[in-house]
Amino acid sequence: MSDALSELKALEDHGAFAARHIGPSEAEVAEMLEALGLESLEALAERTVPAAIRGQEFSALPAPVNEAEAIAELRALAELNNRVHSLIGMGYHGTHVPPVILRNVLENPGWYTAYTPYQAEIAQGRLEALVNFQTMVTDLTGLPVANASLLDEATAAAEAMALALAATKAKSNTLLVAEDVHPQTLAVIRTRAEPLGLTVSVVAPAKVAAACAAQKPFALVLQYPGTTGAVRDIAPEIAAVQAGGGLAIVAADPLSLVLLTPPGEMGADVVIGSSQRFGVPMGYGGPHAAFMAVKDTYKRLMPGRLVGVSVDAAGRPAMRLALQTREQHIRREKATSNICTAQVLLAVMAGMYAVWHGPEGLKRIARRVALQARLLAAAARAAGFTLRHDAFFDTVAIEAGDKAEALMHAALAAGFNLRRLDASGVGIALDETVSRADLDTLVAVLAEVGRAKLALASLAPAGGLPAALERKSAFLTAGVFNSHHAEHSMLRYLKVLEDKDVALNRSMIPLGSCTMKLNATAEMIPVTFPGFGEIHPFAPVDQAAGYLALIRRLEGWLAAITGFAAVSLQPNAGSQGEYAGLLAIRAFHQARGQGQRDICLIPSSAHGTNPASAVMAGMRVVVVGCDRDGNVDLPDLEAKIAQHAGKLSALMITYPSTHGVFEEEIIRICEAVHEAGGQVYMDGANMNAQVGLTAPGRIGADVCHLNLHKTFCIPHGGGGPGVGPIGVASHLAPHLPNHPLLKEAGPATGYGPVSAAPFGSASILPISYAYIRMMGGAALKRATQVAILNANYIAKRLEGHFPVLYKGARGMVAHECILDCRGFQQGGGVLVEDIAKRLQDYGFHAPTMSWPVAGTLMVEPTESEPKAELDRFCDAMIAIRGEIRAVEQGRMDKADNPLKNAPHTAAEVTAEDWTHPYSRADAAFPLPFVAAHKYWPPVKRVDNVYGDRNLVCTCAPLEDYAQAAE
Ligand SMILES: *Cc1c(COP(=O)(O)O)cnc(C)c1O
Repeated sequence: MSDALSELKALEDHGAFAARHIGPSEAEVAEMLEALGLESLEALAERTVPAAIRGQEFSALPAPVNEAEAIAELRALAELNNRVHSLIGMGYHGTHVPPVILRNVLENPGWYTAYTPYQAEIAQGRLEALVNFQTMVTDLTGLPVANASLLDEATAAAEAMALALAATKAKSNTLLVAEDVHPQTLAVIRTRAEPLGLTVSVVAPAKVAAACAAQKPFALVLQYPGTTGAVRDIAPEIAAVQAGGGLAIVAADPLSLVLLTPPGEMGADVVIGSSQRFGVPMGYGGPHAAFMAVKDTYKRLMPGRLVGVSVDAAGRPAMRLALQTREQHIRREKATSNICTAQVLLAVMAGMYAVWHGPEGLKRIARRVALQARLLAAAARAAGFTLRHDAFFDTVAIEAGDKAEALMHAALAAGFNLRRLDASGVGIALDETVSRADLDTLVAVLAEVGRAKLALASLAPAGGLPAALERKSAFLTAGVFNSHHAEHSMLRYLKVLEDKDVALNRSMIPLGSCTMKLNATAEMIPVTFPGFGEIHPFAPVDQAAGYLALIRRLEGWLAAITGFAAVSLQPNAGSQGEYAGLLAIRAFHQARGQGQRDICLIPSSAHGTNPASAVMAGMRVVVVGCDRDGNVDLPDLEAKIAQHAGKLSALMITYPSTHGVFEEEIIRICEAVHEAGGQVYMDGANMNAQVGLTAPGRIGADVCHLNLHKTFCIPHGGGGPGVGPIGVASHLAPHLPNHPLLKEAGPATGYGPVSAAPFGSASILPISYAYIRMMGGAALKRATQVAILNANYIAKRLEGHFPVLYKGARGMVAHECILDCRGFQQGGGVLVEDIAKRLQDYGFHAPTMSWPVAGTLMVEPTESEPKAELDRFCDAMIAIRGEIRAVEQGRMDKADNPLKNAPHTAAEVTAEDWTHPYSRADAAFPLPFVAAHKYWPPVKRVDNVYGDRNLVCTCAPLEDYAQAAE
């Protein structure tokens, strides 16, 4: 190479992204290593990761590219997708994302980098947005309580099934499903019903009422309107299932409910659906926010998160997550749902779509698509076809006889995907993006295939909504849905909410186990490329070539990183990956004639989703204890393996452990399980401590899920979206999930789908793709080393102030550390919660509180935090320790101190009256850096108990309060 070319090579910035993603500079890494008395990052890895598992080759990963190159590569992939206008329906519709929402929510790190709103005081913005979503869902469905989102419509239907089973105390084990529910919904219901021993009975719509009387199912699932578009009066069917003691579950299209009598008014017990068409791109299947609304009687059985209005310490309204005792992290193996990460960002978008359009705007959109459908129905008739249903909302089902194929072809040639219903049927689902020109084209297509002369102008609308089912009740009457129709008003409303919250664009969020690392802008930009957004999940697969190429490459990279043979990207959260992986294990045992193996061993330190998933997969949970060092108690494990030998199905283990330690005995643990005929399921939430240093496949696991929204840079979105792919060893590869509507989605021998869409939340996969592509193998390994370095640096700096609860064999923590705060209660009465709330005054989001050990904080800094930010956090913690000491030593009052009164609001600190024995400055500006970019918590500490006693989950009380204040 010439000198000039060598110089040029040195100046090129391939791989330069790594230095942006990894927070500490070379010099800072050296400084931190020195503080730990270590020579190098390699030496750190040697001190931390047990020798027996160290070493992982990355030969399959390509050399890194820079940001511009990665964006260009993803643009090219997006352009490989063919953006044919899909009028397929089946729960996925074209929609215009209002630009003000696109830019200020979906493309805004203030919204997408936020964490799940467990620390309510610094999450009031997104909590309010979720209350809007819940209000929208209750209004549209006609039921009083709605949750803050579920993963997709099909899993929401399966969740409703589990709710109904619990509500009816399992008096029957038959679930009745009307034949006209979306096929993917039925398929997911079947997957979820099988391990629970439930019978799924499918009946034609006309026979539903009679079947209810004959079979007395525990629940009935209906689609409203039906999957081919038919609208019928479902009230008699609802009454019929209830007469037999079962629950009526209705899967509904939210836009149709603008014009149709809501199922809640017809007596339905549970209404579920997808809010995708409220301004969220189809994205080849997701992510989108599914919804669930229930009768008041069932609110304590409802899966997922529910935002409720409560009051703060000053008596003003404030929101927080309600009824947490329902959830898997509390109920564990008694939970009926494992859902954890949901779809917050998408629920925020859908709720904002309703805010933006308001009731009148939504009516206009709904009436327009309904009229388009009626005109198209008239055209179909005039072209000589018949309609399968005269009563419909936006979807026309055409009986095309032997011209069905010709109709599909002609439509495609004109730029549209229609839905092939069966041999002779074709469905056309209209949506808000269908223009007058599109309608003209569709009419011309019908004319051409039917050999008729047609013109839109001369058609009289045919069919449509039956008058008896027209909606009479008002909806979206709350002020928020009737105020922000001017863009300036909307822009400012979004900004006001955003500014109430702490997200990663403000300060580090050191959440143990949740890996709140950088979500780089270059990774996010491709997500909103139209070539990714506008693809229907059931479009012909040759139109999704870009997606398929991206998916296959990403699967290969993740297989290399985990050391496994095959990967499925279908599960749309970690919890769903757990479930999918356990089903693979179950299917493996069954295929070998070992179906009796149903015991799942789970260490007591496990995340709550683990036992919940095991029960959903038809397993019995046996808890294994932990020893004093936080490791799996080996004698207890061995005893339980021996006790259940012939019945052992699996061990679920998190590695490094949820205590933040690389257990030395992990290989022995895996071997013991294998010797007894069991399989090892690894919870890969802590993969950020493994990548490039070791791998689940190498350690001896058979299956592992990854949380792409933790280790692989998909932002948390305030509590979703996520992606929870599973990697499996070769013997489990035939038992991965698949999908009835796309053979490319998984092996033919698979057990069926766990998500509605073949590749789950496909449209956010470009984020993880971009991350791996820009890092390359060497930098991924360095990221892991620096994540471990950052955690050990924090542990070291805080050592003299807070005891670090668990350490590994050579005195190091893995990528996170647990700070023991239990000792402070005795001396000064300071609780871990007081520390968490006080951190808000310093501008920080608290670490994970009281999990996996009550009374502790689990800190995970990730590799992305620069040293200065780590130091600010440590300074804050040390200053707080000083405040605790002042209380302990009696220099500060036990009840009236900055810890107990935290957080402090601007209103409080600037009020005339200040009665506390510490200064206003100490309250609000306890350290110099705090003043430099002060974050003001918008409310004082939120009262959880009050909110649960007076459960309110909609906008009304907030508005009453705001009015009273005016
Ligand atoms: C986050 C997490 C889960 C659950 O993953 P979701 O994506 O939230 O469903 C499971 N186990 C552990 C250890 C986790 O940290």
